[in-house]
Amino acid sequence: MSNRQTKTDVILIGAGIMSATLGSLLKELVPDWKIKVFEKLATSGEESSNEWNNAGTGHAALCELNYTSEKQDGSIDISKAISINEQFQVSMQFWSYLVKSNLIQNPEDFIMPLPHMSLVQGETNVEFLKKRFQALSNNPLFQGMEFSEDHDKLMDWIPLIMKDRPANEPIAATKIDTGTDVNFGALTRMLFDHLKNNDVEINYQHSVDNIKRTSDGSWELKIRNLETGNVELHTAKFVFIGGGGGSLHLLQKTGIPESKHIGGFPVSGIFMVCNNPEVVEQHHAKVYGKAKVGAPPMSVPHLDTRFIDNKKSLLFGPFAGFSPKFLKNGSMMDLITSIKSDNLLTMLAAGAKEMALTKYLIQQVMLSKEQRMEELREFIPTAKSEDWDLVVAGQRVQVIKDTPSGKGTLQFGTEVITAADGSVAALLGASPGASTAVHVMLEVIKKCFPGQLKEWEPKIKEMIPSFGESLLKNPALLQEVKTSTSEVLGLAGKQQEEKVPELV
Ligand SMILES: Cc1cc2nc3c(=O)[nH]c(=O)nc-3n(C[C@H](O)[C@H](O)[C@H](O)COP(=O)(O)OP(=O)(O)OC[C@H]3O[C@@H](n4cnc5c(N)ncnc54)[C@H](O)[C@@H]3O)c2cc1C
Repeated sequence: MSNRQTKTDVILIGAGIMSATLGSLLKELVPDWKIKVFEKLATSGEESSNEWNNAGTGHAALCELNYTSEKQDGSIDISKAISINEQFQVSMQFWSYLVKSNLIQNPEDFIMPLPHMSLVQGETNVEFLKKRFQALSNNPLFQGMEFSEDHDKLMDWIPLIMKDRPANEPIAATKIDTGTDVNFGALTRMLFDHLKNNDVEINYQHSVDNIKRTSDGSWELKIRNLETGNVELHTAKFVFIGGGGGSLHLLQKTGIPESKHIGGFPVSGIFMVCNNPEVVEQHHAKVYGKAKVGAPPMSVPHLDTRFIDNKKSLLFGPFAGFSPKFLKNGSMMDLITSIKSDNLLTMLAAGAKEMALTKYLIQQVMLSKEQRMEELREFIPTAKSEDWDLVVAGQRVQVIKDTPSGKGTLQFGTEVITAADGSVAALLGASPGASTAVHVMLEVIKKCFPGQLKEWEPKIKEMIPSFGESLLKNPALLQEVKTSTSEVLGLAGKQQEEKVPELV
């Protein structure tokens, strides 16, 4: 063991978008705090936050049908859509602050305007979409949304999807031009560059193997330098476990009561990527469909234009898959080693309850490329197998916990788990994920630093003018926020510039 033992104010575990965001917030709030980052891979943003490992949707509930459910009386519940949209506006404000303050540059390298669309087929679904449109389009957060079931109009919006469809097919879509494609990998790397230039010590190829409390209430981390094999001990007053899929194991190591009775279930993602530039050029939108029966919400199929490395790409998916690994670069033992005596019953209860999901995952794993192409042809009837390749995306670890609705309930959102004294926090779960990183990290700050919040509030408000307020209830602020973020992030002009080219 090396004798390098150092004390610091904050340790961030993992160099994904969550640690990047929390580090950047704290750096603005308390510039003189000493922050260290430990990441086991060779660079930042290589796991779920990487641009090829997620769908890059700036989730603002503009197109995702799972955020608007139909109530028993047939009306549409839009409360979740409102809350996701408000959370995305928080991210947009913080990113704008960073650009305006020159802490990061060139927003076009991480965010691009892109129409967000929902697409449904069949009369019942068309009726649902119409009702959903009526409920959302009157709401100021969703201003500008359009609906159409007219084939000519849809041909104009999504020629690749509409080509060669029967003229009498019931099909409808909504479209809103204020959607975005976000390169979370690029953003993560920019934020880590900014942190590195501002005195944050970033240690790559350092794996955190253990966490334990010290007698003075701090946390001592046992860290392995993967290059030299040396083991180091580092102590911090506050630790954020931003290990993505690796967070559950680390949280369990803390032994805090809040870490008990929680399990994780990994679901992997596979996308199809188009390798024919002529096809790529014929689509310009993120088009979300409806989830299949039994499918978990994160497996809603969508056809997405992406902007990666200054190049336009076209991705379809995600297909779900199963691997016992909790990280793409994880171990086959991850699932087994996450089962402890305190969460065994929780996991077993989930296993018994989630038979439909298990069946769905098994079916997805067994799909051949041609069967996947058939699913793609529900979107692009003319899709040719030779134009599409498979790419393996990131791992999501869905949280399983005991809730008032029963033991072993599978959760699809994100969960922030904190110690009662706020000295350690972990982020579990994956959805809506990176898009709401700023909102989620502000939750961590609220829970872990309640004593400092009053003093920090003016600075938080300077960075995020809507902090503590509802944009929905404050139309003037909403307008101001929308105008200024779209200008600063360079989205304003581009929304009109891009047009879908003529079909070849
Ligand atoms: C298929 C798929 C599609 C998605 N689509 C979207 C989308 O369209 N929009 C959206 O907003 N979100 C999306 N998400 C979710 C989003 O990608 C994640 O919520 C987000 O990237 C999580 O960031 P993170 O920083 O928590 O984790 P990660 O980016 O996974 O980073 C965790 C880091 O911790 C490191 N680490 C782990 N354990 C240790 C250890 N013991 N010691 C040191 N380092 C460690 C890992 O190596 C990794 O670098 C998607 C996710 C998936 C899988």
